[in-house]
Amino acid sequence: MKRRSFMKKGSVGVAATAAATIAAPAVIAAEKKFSWKLTTAFPPGVPFYSTGPGSLADLVKRINVMSGGRLTIKHYHAGELVPAFEGFDAASSGAVEVNAWVSYFGAGKVPAAQFFGAVPFGMSFQGQNAWFYNGGGIDLWHEVYKPYNLVAFPCGNTGIQMTGWFKKEIKSVADLKGLRLRIPGLAGKGYAKLGVDVKLLPGGEIFPALERGVIDAAEWVGPAQDKILGLNKAAKYYYTTGWHEPTTVTEFAINKNKWEELPDDLKMIVRNACAACNIEAHSWSEANNAKAFEEFLNTGTEARTLPDDVIKALAKAMDEVYSELAAKDPVFKKVMDSYFTFKKTHDKWARMSEGVWHAKLRNARG
Ligand code: CA
Repeated sequence: MKRRSFMKKGSVGVAATAAATIAAPAVIAAEKKFSWKLTTAFPPGVPFYSTGPGSLADLVKRINVMSGGRLTIKHYHAGELVPAFEGFDAASSGAVEVNAWVSYFGAGKVPAAQFFGAVPFGMSFQGQNAWFYNGGGIDLWHEVYKPYNLVAFPCGNTGIQMTGWFKKEIKSVADLKGLRLRIPGLAGKGYAKLGVDVKLLPGGEIFPALERGVIDAAEWVGPAQDKILGLNKAAKYYYTTGWHEPTTVTEFAINKNKWEELPDDLKMIVRNACAACNIEAHSWSEANNAKAFEEFLNTGTEARTLPDDVIKALAKAMDEVYSELAAKDPVFKKVMDSYFTFKKTHDKWARMSEGVWHAKLRNARG
């Protein structure tokens, strides 16, 4: 009894001493406060990106609240602290702690980054996330951004985007020749191979250009965002397939030194808030796309799907674009191989699960 009592006391003593030794630095870390600046490529007031559920404002609020004020992030919109597309460099240099945009905005500097943003003929929301979280995608992202001293996470997703608004129907590949289409990124390179006159216009210039006939067609995002620009009033045909952006990810890129300064619990809060907003932003898009799409159908919009031969020609054009870029850039090739190898395996499952559900069950009960 005595011995047991002694052992018990002893172990309590040891445990208490150990706790005191471990607790001291933890308490100091817990009291340290971090104050960050976030730059973004998005103007104020834009639902999904700047305001509302799953937006960057929501993300910043979650981090501020969950950390009990230990990590507070001040949110600057495009142009408020730095111009829209200079936030990546600002976070990279440490002028600000974090920047949010879509990775493909940095394609000129980091071509491989496009696989973390939107991938023509790539995977859907489920597949892209499976690659990110369980297929080594996020680790590759960190590897690609190491030379830029950044650590990035997905923090939002538009879901599948629309092919865009067209003034005339597209009935064959020949109809693409000379078509003046607003489309950025990798997809623009694919269209150009089929004779499309690719135009790069910022969001605010799309509606007047399409309405006045300066361009014949335009791609933006999906029904909810396209409605904000009023694109349904500038063109009648709304084309789908989403080949160019089957899912589009918002990037939260943190200066690596600032990231490494954070204690583990704050790192976990940031990762979790990003993952939560990735899901909630996507949910916002799904709900609001559905609502806006129905409004379009009720107000004269004609929904169309690109013809099969056009899709085939675009796929072939993109094969060439991918091969050319991979031949020039080993980092692009490494990320591309990881992405499409993962996709090949995932496709078999997706076809058998979601694919069959879409084809056979969606309309089974009306
Ligand atoms: Ca788009």
